Amino acid sequence: MNASWSRNAFVYLLILVAAAALFLNIYGPTEKPQTKSLSEVASLIGKGEVERIDVQEEELRVVIRGSEQPYISRKEEGIPLTRTLQGLGVEQAKLANVKINVLPPSSSGNWFALILNMLPLLLIAGLFLFLFRQSQSGNNQALSFGKSKARMFTGDRPTITFDDVAGSDEAKQELQEVVEFLKEPQKFVALGARIPKGVLLVGPPGTGKTLMAKAVSGEAGVPFFSISGSEFVEMFVGVGASRVRDLFEQARRNSPCIIFVDEIDAVGRYRGTGMGGSHDEREQTLNQILVEMDGFGTDTNVILIAATNRPDILDPALLRPGRFDRRVTMDRPDLSGRRAILDVHVKGKPLAPDVDLDLIARQTPGFVGADIENLVNESAILAARRNRRSITMADMEESIERISMGGPERRSRLMSSKEREIVAYHEAGHAIVVHLVKNADPLRKVTIVPRGTALGLTLYVPEADRMLYPRSYFIDRVACALGGRVAEELVFGDITNGASGDIKQITQIVRSMVTRYGMSDKMGPLQFGRQNENVFLGREISEQRDYSEEVAEQVDDEVRRIVHEAYERVRGLLGAHRDQLDAIAKALLERETLLVDEFVAIFDGTISPDDLPDPLAPAPA
Ligand code: ADP
Ligand code: MG
Ligand code: ZN
Repeated sequence: MNASWSRNAFVYLLILVAAAALFLNIYGPTEKPQTKSLSEVASLIGKGEVERIDVQEEELRVVIRGSEQPYISRKEEGIPLTRTLQGLGVEQAKLANVKINVLPPSSSGNWFALILNMLPLLLIAGLFLFLFRQSQSGNNQALSFGKSKARMFTGDRPTITFDDVAGSDEAKQELQEVVEFLKEPQKFVALGARIPKGVLLVGPPGTGKTLMAKAVSGEAGVPFFSISGSEFVEMFVGVGASRVRDLFEQARRNSPCIIFVDEIDAVGRYRGTGMGGSHDEREQTLNQILVEMDGFGTDTNVILIAATNRPDILDPALLRPGRFDRRVTMDRPDLSGRRAILDVHVKGKPLAPDVDLDLIARQTPGFVGADIENLVNESAILAARRNRRSITMADMEESIERISMGGPERRSRLMSSKEREIVAYHEAGHAIVVHLVKNADPLRKVTIVPRGTALGLTLYVPEADRMLYPRSYFIDRVACALGGRVAEELVFGDITNGASGDIKQITQIVRSMVTRYGMSDKMGPLQFGRQNENVFLGREISEQRDYSEEVAEQVDDEVRRIVHEAYERVRGLLGAHRDQLDAIAKALLERETLLVDEFVAIFDGTISPDDLPDPLAPAPA
């Protein structure tokens, strides 16, 4: 212990000295004195400006009256300075006013400068040599970082409470018990209650797991020790396990308290699979966590909270009773949850009267808390850049699109006019079908301003988060997605690759209708293929085929039939509304974006595209 401490101190000292030397080298006096030729010096003497000249071998330091900064000059070797100056026309009387000091030749100065320059290099080389010998000495804990970092676990006391975590009421309820236990452990122990040891917070990124863990410790008023799973795996072998030991030791000394392990899946994957290099390290760390958890008696009032978005890959040993046996789910917030989170984040920010937070919440299904925080922040930035005093609805809606599509908007002027026209008809086609069908989500707006990889966007969002979708919804949804492609074909007699995103969506919807929802009359209420789906990532991990080649053909036929039927239907719809298609496309080319009211007015013919207000008029302040 002592030896390793002094070794560490030595290393730190070396690093410090090297840093200081580097700093001096870079930031030390760097102003180079100006050089002058001898004839310039002569004329300065003639004007009586020179006070003193220091001569060291051939080098001259010419000190000017009333100036701090001397000039540097050189004289010829072997010729006295005064003779040279007289040769340059300096009068004897003027020269007498200048004090000339002849200094002894220096050899040490150069050497000193050289060493000063080399010092950082030497020190760094020394450090490397030291490290090299250390790691060769067979000591697993290279640098003993694992130990020294222990001092960095300080349990801070978060001021966050449950009020700062909006929505998530169920999770709060479940965690209330943990809070009560941490506040008054004796009460529970006296009754012989088995105390929860580990709580696993499960949910997609940005749903507020870290925030919730802090809120628990804030509510209970106990210290909060946190570490991230990926930190365990960093750097040197053997460090992970020792960090776990240190962490638990610190926590024990500060109980009651909370240990929060973020991203526990980084260390807590199934053991004994894969052949990764850091595999052993991970296993040792995980084992150490398990050992420490088991070592907790009922008298240690420490509760572990871990967070992950991949509960499916965790080692079962972690989830056994007495370990992380409580699971609290932090799901994506629903409509009311998003509304509540908006409230938390707009607090203290000036909102224009036109801002309708209900509508914003409706427009952001799928957003997690972190997205909403980001949305409010982006809106504030937009408003500031436009020199507004408050955040307007337009700022917020633009931020929604930025966040959901990624990347700031590229001006559509960068597209060729032909491409713009195609995109305008494509989006107009989507929008008209969305408007005409009864069972899909209502139209919000349509735009041909490119965002991220999409060239345009027709926004239609549900009135509320839905759990149940009827077959008619899917049928209409497919029609909406086909609107763009059909419009292109109808107007230009040719089709583009711009519809590939739509087509992917259509394929997914129709395949699911046939193989998973049992919505095809021909195939009946049967599921084809067993899907292992990860609920939280919403991603299909694998599909196992459990049907014959013949059935596979039937499924494909049925999928094709549904899409074909929808295609014919959309062709009929758009063909019957060709005039409106032209009008909407024209309006889009002029205005780039149409809100639903403007769209309906043009569609119904109550306003002509030419009568719309000028989109470039300055926004009201
Ligand atoms: P996670 O740990 O699940 O990835 P975080 O706790 O780091 O998510 O959340 C990131 C940020 O998002 C938080 O700091 C907070 O500002 C915001 N946030 C997330 N969920 C909520 C919520 N339910 N209420 C308020 N803010 C939230
Ligand atoms: Mg987090
Ligand atoms: Zn499209």
